[in-house]
Amino acid sequence: MRHGILFVVSAPSGTGKTTVVEELVGAVPDLVMSRSYTSRVPREGEVDGVDYHFIGPEVFEEMLAAGEFLESATVFGHRYGTSVGDTENYLGQGQDVVLVIDVQGAEQIKQQNSEMTSIFVMPPSFEELEKRLRGRSGSGAIEADLRWRLDTARREIEVRGRYDYIVVNDDVKECVDSLRCIVLAERSRARAMKSEGSAIAGSFIHDQMKST
Ligand code: 5GP
Repeated sequence: MRHGILFVVSAPSGTGKTTVVEELVGAVPDLVMSRSYTSRVPREGEVDGVDYHFIGPEVFEEMLAAGEFLESATVFGHRYGTSVGDTENYLGQGQDVVLVIDVQGAEQIKQQNSEMTSIFVMPPSFEELEKRLRGRSGSGAIEADLRWRLDTARREIEVRGRYDYIVVNDDVKECVDSLRCIVLAERSRARAMKSEGSAIAGSFIHDQMKST
């Protein structure tokens, strides 16, 4: 069985990365979105084990000390991490996995020389990102939090060149289409096609032996 492909998607807060990745995994078979672990408390409507594994700060640090995270980072004051075990399980079963993580986490995985395909999703403009962030938090938008996210976004987009692909989320459908094309192209890389290619090549040898 083929080993799955690891995809990493990063984007500034408010770009809509969760929406596009959820649509992507709904549209492509054998592609799953990894569920991160976090120290933060669930927001209204968030469900433990669905949106995140909400584990609290103590358990988070225990898991970190035990080497259970492939990567981890502090983002907007909270701890986030990707489980090595969960990721390996999916990949070992031949499932492709998408990690939706921040730029610090993506850089950690890159430094480990792990094979991965990284994608940076950009908003169409700074103004549009600000509009989306204001719309998301409604009229109760806390100005300081908004500034924090926009300042972070400014820094994050500077590292876009470290990623394999850059996709703009202007129109959700077009963005999902682009992501889908990337996943399908990566699946057709010769290294990803190794076992399937060998199986097909094997049938040629088998057939040749029958005919001689
Ligand atoms: P939120 O709490 O708003 O869902 O996510 C805040 C930020 O944390 C997002 O930019 C998201 O990409 C990032 N994030 C979520 N899970 C992880 C993770 O497991 N690792 C890292 N490094 N960042 C994460």
